[in-house]
Amino acid sequence: MSGGPAVLSLENVCKTYGSGETRVEALRSVSLEVQRGDFVAIIGPSGSGKSTLMNILGCLDVPTSGRYLFAGDDVMRLGDDQLARIRNLRIGFVFQQFHLLKKLSAWRNVELPLLYRRARGRREKALAALGLVGLDHRVDHTPNELSGGQQQRVAIARALVTDPELILADEPTGNLDTTSTAEILAILYQLHREGRTIVLITHDPEIAAVAARVVRISDGVLTEEVPVALTGRRSGAARPRPRAPRRRAAPIADTGGEAASPPAGAAGPPEPRAQPAPVSPAGSGRPPGDRLWPRNSATTPPSSRRTVTS
Ligand code: ADP
Ligand code: MG
Repeated sequence: MSGGPAVLSLENVCKTYGSGETRVEALRSVSLEVQRGDFVAIIGPSGSGKSTLMNILGCLDVPTSGRYLFAGDDVMRLGDDQLARIRNLRIGFVFQQFHLLKKLSAWRNVELPLLYRRARGRREKALAALGLVGLDHRVDHTPNELSGGQQQRVAIARALVTDPELILADEPTGNLDTTSTAEILAILYQLHREGRTIVLITHDPEIAAVAARVVRISDGVLTEEVPVALTGRRSGAARPRPRAPRRRAAPIADTGGEAASPPAGAAGPPEPRAQPAPVSPAGSGRPPGDRLWPRNSATTPPSSRRTVTS
């Protein structure tokens, strides 16, 4: 396949904090490959090494040993400027806390990554990114004039505005109510459908299940959950995946974040084509046992996954 290198490739990555009695092996020989267009959830309990892994994937920290290639480039050989460039332009971060600047309007927040390279047409790009997350009508609002879900949409727009190779989302719904959680998951799902590469870090299996591929971390050790249909073949790095073409994202309607109405517009398709089913929030009559996430044939429910050691 001539699609170029994996977006990210970890080979036997270890991360150790401290020494002697306080030594902690936060990551133990972690190997992971994420291809363009993948949607991977990394799930694990508190203390399992998620943040450590996130910091390494996001080029915020470096491994103690092992190798990390970002789009084929060996991160440990790059200088600070080059790493900063990757962080600013090639990775879109979405955090639990949104990290928006309170005094800036939505579009000014979204514009921020573009200031780094003094890009032209910043306002247009910021408005377009806000349109993708259904916030065209809130571009001049400051964060305190927006609901939590809307603030996270602004943060996603900010992550998208540089057209990054990777979107790295760390507990992106951790501060949101059920309705907004469903909306944000629907947005991530749609971005995946449009060909984006997404790594989603969470402690919650219901959140992880939105992803096409789930990787579990426990005590710094990574294991891959393999869909039963693929039993007998290793998933992830060894599994050939179709290369999804990058398409322009269709806008997603805004329902007002924490508004009481169901996020039908947010989760539903902008046009009649194969799309995730509308996401039903809790309290809107979703049947017991039904889940938060949108799904279709590309999304394998967790019940049909099993865990194998990679
Ligand atoms: P998670 O994000 O899954 O909760 P972390 O990656 O934060 O897990 O932590 C993994 C392990 O590494 C834990 O045992 C934690 O106490 C330890 N750890 C994390 N950061 C540091 C640090 N800066 N110094 C020492 N130990 C750390
Ligand atoms: Mg953490």
